[in-house]
Amino acid sequence: MATDPARPACPGPGGYPDPDPAWGPATRAVHAGHARTGFQETSEALFLTQGFVYDGAADAEAAFEGTLDRFTYARYENPTVSTFEERLRALEGAEACLATASGMSAVFSTLAALVRSGSRIVAGRALFGSTVTVFEDLLARWGVVTDYVDAHDLADWRRALATPADVVFFETPSNPMQDVVDVAAVSALAHAAGATVVVDNVLATPVLQRVLPQGADVVVYSATKHIDGQGRTMGGAVLGSREFVHGPLRLVLRNTGPTLSPFNAWVLLKGLETLPLRVRAQSAAALELARWLETRPGIGRVHYPFLDSHPQAALARAQMSGGGTVVTFDLVVDGRPAGRAEAFAFLDALRLVLISNNLGDTKSLVTHPATTTHRRLGPDGRARVGISDATVRLSVGLEEVADLRADLDQALAAVRAVRRPAA
Ligand SMILES: *Cc1c(COP(=O)(O)O)cnc(C)c1O
Repeated sequence: MATDPARPACPGPGGYPDPDPAWGPATRAVHAGHARTGFQETSEALFLTQGFVYDGAADAEAAFEGTLDRFTYARYENPTVSTFEERLRALEGAEACLATASGMSAVFSTLAALVRSGSRIVAGRALFGSTVTVFEDLLARWGVVTDYVDAHDLADWRRALATPADVVFFETPSNPMQDVVDVAAVSALAHAAGATVVVDNVLATPVLQRVLPQGADVVVYSATKHIDGQGRTMGGAVLGSREFVHGPLRLVLRNTGPTLSPFNAWVLLKGLETLPLRVRAQSAAALELARWLETRPGIGRVHYPFLDSHPQAALARAQMSGGGTVVTFDLVVDGRPAGRAEAFAFLDALRLVLISNNLGDTKSLVTHPATTTHRRLGPDGRARVGISDATVRLSVGLEEVADLRADLDQALAAVRAVRRPAA
């Protein structure tokens, strides 16, 4: 079929317009990466298409040769997925971004692109459970060794990075105990040891913390969390230099296929439009609740990066523009740490806050990490990162703070009514 001269030109995956460099984050979140079609739609189009047709066989050849920038196949790229990638890239201020089907495919694909048999990873000990499984059960089988450090302790990093390493991996703040890692200092130690620094920035979000300017090389996200933020779809993303993202990472993603679906990309794209607004509001509410919780009977330690009582409050304030949407605290009954039954009684008594292992949602969610998300660590592993049966993780949503306070207060009263079972 011959080329139709009347057909409006659409960009190829490499031809999306750059956002105005003067735009601030909220403006980027709403407008960046939007290449309108000839219909001049207001809202981003949803391209539910696996493939793309060619005007002639020579165009197909040029596309596969890489001399023609155009879409070819949705495992490689799709216009809606590219729009999401471009918008998140603009928000993060990264050179390049590729989306994935979930946060774990972002983590795994990044590691697969960076390690080979015999590689050494140094990781912060407080990690998302599935990330530990990737290190211990998958990469270990392929001859990749992972050493763990207490990520808030620079001396521990210094010791571990006295030996060369290929990858340094950490979360900051960590989930759920809110350990804060000194991104600039650890990145400098990592680079001197020959390692690429990968940061799982899920808890902080691109709104509250940008780690690339602080020295990190690669950022990974579970878009399932705040980027959707409304409990609908899974998704993930990897951001970093053009050289890494469009080189070794793209090789893994294109050929192993953890592709973000166009539908999910469209949902996440619309999520990005309200991300700065939601995250700032949820973070402000979380700080208010964290301060209030510190004054309540029945609450022991409250773990939140922007509390004055946080051991790394100054570092958190230097690295982040808000403390995040998650507050972690220990329950206390009759002056001693709550047991499992009392923690369960607290969760069960909540009426507005929902029991769920997710976080970053507009609905406030509560988790008992020891029996769910961090079960796999075992009692010793949990003790090493500070999680006990008394620990509760609260992901703060967009409800009225007064309603959340009332719900937490009535649940604390319910715990006081429960007797601890005899030992
Ligand atoms: C949820 C989460 C992940 C994994 O993301 P999925 O989208 O569930 O695959 C990774 N890291 C952190 C810190 C998370 O909270």
